Amino acid sequence: MTRTAKRVKINAQGTLRSLMRDYFLNLDAAASDPDRLVAWCTSVGPCEILTAFGYEVYFPENHGALLGARKISHECIPAAVGVGYCAESCSYMTSDIGAALSGVSPLTEAYGISGPPRPDLLAYSTNQCREVQDWWHFFGRRHDAKVLGICPPTHVGEVTDAHVAFVRHELQELINHIEGHLGRKMDYARLEQAVSLSSRASSLWRCVLDTARTRPSPMTFFDGLIHMAPVILMRGSQDAIDYYNLLLDEMNGRVSGGIGAIPDERFRIYWDGMPVWPKVREMSEKFFDLGVAVSASTYCNSWAFEDYAGGDPLEWMARTSTEIFINRSETFKQQFLIEMCEAFQIDGIIFHNARTCPNNTNSRFGMAQRLRDETGMPVLVFDGDLSDVRFFSTAQTMTNMEAFVEQLEGRLR
Ligand code: SF4
Repeated sequence: MTRTAKRVKINAQGTLRSLMRDYFLNLDAAASDPDRLVAWCTSVGPCEILTAFGYEVYFPENHGALLGARKISHECIPAAVGVGYCAESCSYMTSDIGAALSGVSPLTEAYGISGPPRPDLLAYSTNQCREVQDWWHFFGRRHDAKVLGICPPTHVGEVTDAHVAFVRHELQELINHIEGHLGRKMDYARLEQAVSLSSRASSLWRCVLDTARTRPSPMTFFDGLIHMAPVILMRGSQDAIDYYNLLLDEMNGRVSGGIGAIPDERFRIYWDGMPVWPKVREMSEKFFDLGVAVSASTYCNSWAFEDYAGGDPLEWMARTSTEIFINRSETFKQQFLIEMCEAFQIDGIIFHNARTCPNNTNSRFGMAQRLRDETGMPVLVFDGDLSDVRFFSTAQTMTNMEAFVEQLEGRLR
């Protein structure tokens, strides 16, 4: 069934486009200027420290997602496999490595630049997965650049003061290493400013996502995938704050006007796990046609951190980077999903079993069944991947989605 209803365009998107353009052009200029520094950072890594040292910060996972969204990952991955990377390891990593080896980048078509900026330093946190460590070391070797990182405790239940103290120590060590590498001291006032800006952008992003608690949802997971870019790439900048103020105003306007992203919203779904980047458009259209709002997701929430209320910026960084969902225990995650489903008035849950990302897949150890038993809500698990389309069947997944919505309909009868 294809609905005749029209999508309501998000006006802030024009501003987002020019922000993204400025961001990548600035990175490109920095990489070719001997007086400026570029650092690569993991998406929930210690970017505020890098900003405070004066690095322009680039996030390779975004490039991995772009390769997927532009449907070219599967062409790049074989080159990474050819130099020893397993085809079933993170497809962000293998497509990014493969793209570099093949001299391909979606940034060329989008912004007229040759590709990712050359790094002076690569910094990671394994709070999301260990894959990033190996990914960063590949590019460290390739560019003869220093690689530094922190390894926080993982699978954490309650985050204790001992966890925070441990990670804070790691962050301090990271600063010490960068000071030694650059031959200059950290400016702690600048670090506090970067943390404060980061926290503000992140809080505004959470407010934007929270507008989808209302019925109808003013935005969906698929909108979130586009609009989350500044909270990842421009965290620690005023640009991200200005952008989310703009977007929040627009979403609040939709809430007061009763305008939903899905006209005549019938059901509301929670999405757990990674997006399927090469199929985002098709899946978004499928849910639109079915009258289903994917109102909340684990993925978009990954950058909604706690507020920084002043005090030790390293402690805030240590706590927020340990508290992120992906880094938590199975028990914590299950309870979090239950609370999210209540808060967002969810009718059913979809788990994406992403073949190459076990770290951000939560359906492998019985959680889907336990949630179904505990909440009584319909739950669907589908097999796919974040970037590698060889692990995804469009026809089968769409059929499964339709059957799932029929199941939701059945509960109304
Ligand atoms: S969390 Fe998953 S998708 Fe992200 S870098 Fe790690 S393995 Fe790759």
